[in-house]
Amino acid sequence: MYVTGGIGPAAANEGFTDYYDLPNESAYAETCASVGLVFWANRMLGRGPNRRYADIMEQALYNGAMSGLSLDGKTFFYENPLESGGKHRRWVWHHCPCCPPNIARLLASIGSYMYAVSEDEIAVHLYGESTARFDIGSAKIELTQKTRYPWDGAIRFDVTADTAARFAISLRIPEWADGSTLKVNGQAIDLASVTIDGYARIERDWTSGDHIDLDIPLAPRALFANPLVRQDAGARGPDARASGLLRRGDRQWRWP
Ligand SMILES: [Zn+2]
Repeated sequence: MYVTGGIGPAAANEGFTDYYDLPNESAYAETCASVGLVFWANRMLGRGPNRRYADIMEQALYNGAMSGLSLDGKTFFYENPLESGGKHRRWVWHHCPCCPPNIARLLASIGSYMYAVSEDEIAVHLYGESTARFDIGSAKIELTQKTRYPWDGAIRFDVTADTAARFAISLRIPEWADGSTLKVNGQAIDLASVTIDGYARIERDWTSGDHIDLDIPLAPRALFANPLVRQDAGARGPDARASGLLRRGDRQWRWP
């Protein structure tokens, strides 16, 4: 898998090749494949909240899948290479129109991937401004998320309930985030003591007016490829591409 959540590096078989074969410029990483990865991760979450799957679902959603669609929603990528000389552009349609409807149905159904519910638990897999309604036993629960995520990691949840009810709210604490904090009705919760499979599970009697503040630090971090990925290995200091960049400066230098 690419760092973007793109999968399937080869055009020849529109699929997988050998272990650690992840070319950047010729990466196939079809939009559909990342959409499929989101669907697959979501099905795995049918076994219960587990951030191993939800983190990958988010990674593929925001990167390998979303890159398949332009901001205005009118043009599409079929392949999502990680490197391009500038010729790779989104097109209006494709002779094999698999990616446009797949990314369209993913975005149209995004709400169903954000949450899950069992008889006594609500799980929040993805963060984003939204309102969701659940039946827990005979209680009708409304959960509202207020956030600018992913631009800001502060997320506020407000609970509305037609009657007080005992159940758990489980919030994904992404593995990539260092130092997330959680408060319930203003009271700090020790994350380590309530986290199961990467989800902070808060079980209590919930009633209208209860609120949760989750803060996920979105600090930039350096990522490194596995050393077995030969296409990403080796270079330290100037290489051919780096000198190309150096020559692009507007001042010309020559030997005296
Ligand atoms: Zn496709």
